[in-house]
Amino acid sequence: MNEKARVIDIASQLIQKNSVTPNDDGCQEYIKEELKDFNFECVNLNLENVSNLWLRRGDKKPLIVFAGHTDVVPPGNLGEWKTNPFEPVIKDNTLYGRGASDMKSSLAAMVSATQKFIGENPKHNGSIGFLLTSDEEGPAKYGTKKVIEKFKEEQMSIDYCIVGEPTSNKVFGDTIKNGRRGSITGNLKIFGVQGHIAYPELAKNPIHLAGELIGILNTFKWDEGNKYFPPTSFQISSIFSDKVASNMIPSWINLVFNLRFSNELTQHAIKAIFEKILNENNLNYAIEWDCSAEPFVTKEGDLTKVLQKVIENKIKVQANLSTTGGTSDARFISTHAKETIEFGPLNRSAHKINENIKIDDLIKLEDIYYGVLCELLL
Ligand SMILES: [Zn+2]
Repeated sequence: MNEKARVIDIASQLIQKNSVTPNDDGCQEYIKEELKDFNFECVNLNLENVSNLWLRRGDKKPLIVFAGHTDVVPPGNLGEWKTNPFEPVIKDNTLYGRGASDMKSSLAAMVSATQKFIGENPKHNGSIGFLLTSDEEGPAKYGTKKVIEKFKEEQMSIDYCIVGEPTSNKVFGDTIKNGRRGSITGNLKIFGVQGHIAYPELAKNPIHLAGELIGILNTFKWDEGNKYFPPTSFQISSIFSDKVASNMIPSWINLVFNLRFSNELTQHAIKAIFEKILNENNLNYAIEWDCSAEPFVTKEGDLTKVLQKVIENKIKVQANLSTTGGTSDARFISTHAKETIEFGPLNRSAHKINENIKIDDLIKLEDIYYGVLCELLL
């Protein structure tokens, strides 16, 4: 079997496993097995119902880590899939199956690139690690976050980390994520005074109060963004009020909103500014906050430069650095590693029905990961 077929075979083996989050369904064991002849030290860190695996070969610096998740999102309506989501199918040079984009193909490319690299260069410099979790698509509480906490305790440092999330946007290779925005959700309840709708002067309508507040928030400039981040955005996701009769003014209204924020702000700054606006408008309120991610950025360094150069050389695409999109486990790793970036396949079919990757892209991805190992460890 040639090495091109190898990466396809590994991706297919992984897709076959029904690893809907947080179930790993043997993916990590399979990867361990694939790397067993290459002198990796293995540590299983299973917590609650989450499987985590840490593999390391060598003890020298620099340590380059491939990170990713073996779990996938549920397939959704099976009737809409043209093929079984857990039976890899290749059709028209495209591999179909749940995880083909997010992110079993990347894992396959990482494993296969590593096998090839070590096979050719058994005496390479530095060390290679794999950080795998089955808790990325779920709450992400007992996965990468916990493993990184352990590394911090043990003072085990990481120099470079590549997370295999599907980052490519229009054409394969066009985007490297070097950071992500923060995300904070607020649950705000504004209290008014219930009353007869015919006598509004005897009541206080919380819906009208919320209307004024939304007007202010709509035009409020949280920041201008910066070189790495677009301006912070504020969006309301739902509004509901006390269910009352049509001749009544309700006593409260509830607003749920979210901010995707740049590193010009912190969650504490956002809370303070928001509550100042509420107080300036004399609102009687209760608010709960949930910050799922602080923003982070990896500035241009060795890893971003090497990766951009390898992409350009191998596939003639200029890769841009970007911090757009949702959150990923890179947010945990970036608090510890010197440089953390994300790079992987096209994201257009991720989490969708008929998820897929072009075989060409899969082979190119393997070649790019291989190129990065050569640049950093030879
Ligand atoms: Zn993912």
